[in-house]
Amino acid sequence: MPAKRKPKLAVWKFASCDGCQLSLLDCEDELLALTGAIDIANFVEASRVVVQGPYDLSLVEGSITTPHDAERIHQVRRVSKHLVTIGACATAGGIQALRNFKDVKQLVSIVYATPEYIETLNKSTPIADHVSVDFQLQGCPINKHQLIEVISAFLNGRKPNTPAHSVCVECKRRGTVCVMVAHGTPCLGPVTHAGCCALCPSYNRGCYGCYGPMETPNTASLSDWWSHLGVSEDGLVRAFRTFNAYAEPFRKESESHEE
Ligand code: SF4
Ligand code: SF4
Ligand code: SF4
Repeated sequence: MPAKRKPKLAVWKFASCDGCQLSLLDCEDELLALTGAIDIANFVEASRVVVQGPYDLSLVEGSITTPHDAERIHQVRRVSKHLVTIGACATAGGIQALRNFKDVKQLVSIVYATPEYIETLNKSTPIADHVSVDFQLQGCPINKHQLIEVISAFLNGRKPNTPAHSVCVECKRRGTVCVMVAHGTPCLGPVTHAGCCALCPSYNRGCYGCYGPMETPNTASLSDWWSHLGVSEDGLVRAFRTFNAYAEPFRKESESHEE
């Protein structure tokens, strides 16, 4: 009997820091089992060997920031049966989307000695603004256990089991004392997507939203609480403008506090 063909996985990079791809390499304990179940066919961060597509599952890291990338993502979509975006860059435009609030031409002339060599789009945008996406895994970087769950789900034809609730729920589950209630430390946990096991509050710090917005976040209510804690309007703008600044709920909330 011929051996069953293993599903082919590809990992693609756009504008990003590679941190989310490294989460896959960080799956040390699970990597052997993973390579037994799938053929890691295209992953240039890890291997120079590239097996041609089509691919059963593509993981896409990074945002679209150049005309070339805006074309390339369509090629990736064409050769991918399923396409999953990984990380804040791919799902929300990333920290590089801070430029979306300014005139990019002015920034280029300030940053680069020879701006005429720079070919860039006006905005850094998430992958879903360009092609259809089958699933989005949030985080900066993503959680490796959630990544394994997403890969496993797609290979088995089921929906990934990743929670859509807030970091607060994770805080309660692990019995962490609430930093906002205990000592008035501003925390974005109530509006931030779960996935990190409430890492920052467990070290007595407020969450700064690196997992991006949860499903239906009440950002206006949280801003009100932060104002009671003494955070200025400018402070609120900056709080919502970090890794997920261009995710719609965070973008709208930051804009509502601009002078
Ligand atoms: S989401 Fe964060 S960790 Fe992942 S590629 Fe972007 S900047 Fe790096
Ligand atoms: S510390 Fe932050 S994330 Fe944890 S319960 Fe309090 S507000 Fe929510
Ligand atoms: S900033 Fe928030 S979402 Fe990110 S690791 Fe800390 S607690 Fe988790």
